[in-house]
Amino acid sequence: MWRATILTLFPEMFPGPLGLSLAGEGLARGAWALEARNIREHGLGRHRAVDDTPAGGGPGMVMRADVLAAAVDAAAPPGDARPRLLMSPRGAPLTQARVRRLVEGEGVVILCGRFEGVDERIIAARALEEVSIGDYVLSGGEIAAMALIDACVRLLPGIMGEAASGVEESFEAGLLEYPQYTRPREFEGRAIPDILLSGDHAKIAEWRRGQALELTRERRPDLQPPDDKKRG
Ligand code: SAH
Repeated sequence: MWRATILTLFPEMFPGPLGLSLAGEGLARGAWALEARNIREHGLGRHRAVDDTPAGGGPGMVMRADVLAAAVDAAAPPGDARPRLLMSPRGAPLTQARVRRLVEGEGVVILCGRFEGVDERIIAARALEEVSIGDYVLSGGEIAAMALIDACVRLLPGIMGEAASGVEESFEAGLLEYPQYTRPREFEGRAIPDILLSGDHAKIAEWRRGQALELTRERRPDLQPPDDKKRG
């Protein structure tokens, strides 16, 4: 079973939104598993300290490498094949392709930072892969971890059924998705494009591909459709 283990100072944030809707139903059915572990259990001294002031000075607090190492080792003993991720604005931006590969594995172990982040040495010492969910700064890694897990879980077998096979979804073909419509046929004077009501499936597929290409070119010229690289 695909298992997500979260290391956090706020385990009570989980499952949170992951406990609702399709992800939540899957969790309740045992289609995947979630464990949120409190880093503070590995804190030091009477106050279970997990952080300290930055070496070299500066604002805020830094999470200690020794405390984090103990937390990682307890959650993912040697032999646990799951990738160990650190949510971090410095990480590689998360992509649908990375999500697909994570789903093929046994799950993830995710370390959530707080404060100014983590002591640099934990990253190499425990082979953590830094992952970002975008070029902005959150106050902690928990919401980022939820976003990553949500993107993974919806692709697990039996979570979303046919919809999640998702071959036509945004990013799956290196393209943004074509526009979608449903009833009513006319809404405030705006009609559904005739082609979609024509019943001509080949024409519809062609129209959708054209729309997807155009949208992608306009909004995300940085996305290159794999079979379309020469169009530039
Ligand atoms: N001082 C750090 C930011 C710390 S924010 C810096 O400038 O890089 C506190 C924590 O929130 C981070 O350790 C990380 O776990 C999480 N976080 C913040 N922004 C994130 C992002 N864009 N993607 C993933 N995690 C993020």
